[in-house]
Amino acid sequence: MNTKELIEIEDNYFINTFTRQPIVLDHGDGVKVTDIDGNEYIDMFAGIAVNALGHNHPKLVKAIQDQAEKLIHVSSIYYNEPALIYAKKLIELTSFDRIFYANSGAEANEGAIKLAVKYTGKSEVISTIESFHGRTVTTLAATGHEHYHEPFKAILPKGFINVPYNNIDAIKEAITDNTAAIIVEPVQGEGGVNIPDMDYLKEISKICKENNIVFIVDEVQTGFGRCGTLFAHELFDVKPDIMTMAKAIGGGVPMGGILATDEVASAFVPGDHGTTFGGGPLVCAAANAVLDVIYDDDLLTNSKEMGQYLKEELEKLQENHDIIKEVRGCGLMVGIELTQPGAEYVDKLREKGFLINCTAGNVLRLVPPLIIKKEEIDEFVKALDETL
Ligand code: PMP
Repeated sequence: MNTKELIEIEDNYFINTFTRQPIVLDHGDGVKVTDIDGNEYIDMFAGIAVNALGHNHPKLVKAIQDQAEKLIHVSSIYYNEPALIYAKKLIELTSFDRIFYANSGAEANEGAIKLAVKYTGKSEVISTIESFHGRTVTTLAATGHEHYHEPFKAILPKGFINVPYNNIDAIKEAITDNTAAIIVEPVQGEGGVNIPDMDYLKEISKICKENNIVFIVDEVQTGFGRCGTLFAHELFDVKPDIMTMAKAIGGGVPMGGILATDEVASAFVPGDHGTTFGGGPLVCAAANAVLDVIYDDDLLTNSKEMGQYLKEELEKLQENHDIIKEVRGCGLMVGIELTQPGAEYVDKLREKGFLINCTAGNVLRLVPPLIIKKEEIDEFVKALDETL
């Protein structure tokens, strides 16, 4: 079938949820993906920050193949080695004590909110405007986009308060005796790559401690090296009570998780929470490989260095293009805010062989694989220069 025929299948048979780009991707290798017509693209979007190692990294592929041959899944009433090994390895790299395995970012955030509510016995959650925490009913309420709420207002749970991002006074005003948690992205992704002031997360952490509120960081998009450190909150020198993760954790297999301190985690007892697929051997074998490659190949350094390089090159472009309002970046999570809507530039760049996306209407978002090299960045910046 050709591209047109395949896309018609979606038009005819899928529930209409996504506005997709009109290409059918077939295979990937490193920073490149190829569509079924043989067109090659430099993937500056990496499945929204999922493919940290690049596409089809041989060590990730081998780990998945080896595990698939041994054991793909077991019920969560049994132990499996990859899940146990991974938990110890990851926790030793963080300030947290305990893990729960989920399957997606939304599911991780659902669990985090339940844990905070159970721990505090309270029922209000403060989140930020322009934040994104998921599409399930509870995480939708936490997500700070009014237009996503609108059709579902009747069923959204009460107790969710969205306050402006990077604004401590707004948080202080929103706190009540019934506040269970504050949930924030260390850097807002869907909201347009918004980087807060250096002391924002620290202030939140302090307020949470003073008021016995659970501090949740959503690292679903920023985690696993995206911002140049394993987790972005490390940049702001804070120790949250709960962290949620997904996307890059499994390098492309559906996986998510919650990390929590011993104190907060102790609120859950058997029966409070669970999942069929979370922490299965196949996805945990993948996660083990991802974490190993991040350190073996020093991808945190590459994220930092290439992120800085990309940002600098874009800032040079800004001098010649009035349409660029601002360049924002944190490692290899970079946003180019335009003075006008960005969708047409996404299309034009795709036609030139580069995949990016536009978020918040006018921010071109770049989240390439962490293995990206200078030459590939140069190619992209040249194409963007011509396009603008
Ligand atoms: N949190 C953040 C910060 C996200 O960016 C996303 C997805 N864009 C989610 C949660 C939801 O993740 P998922 O799509 O895996 O449910």
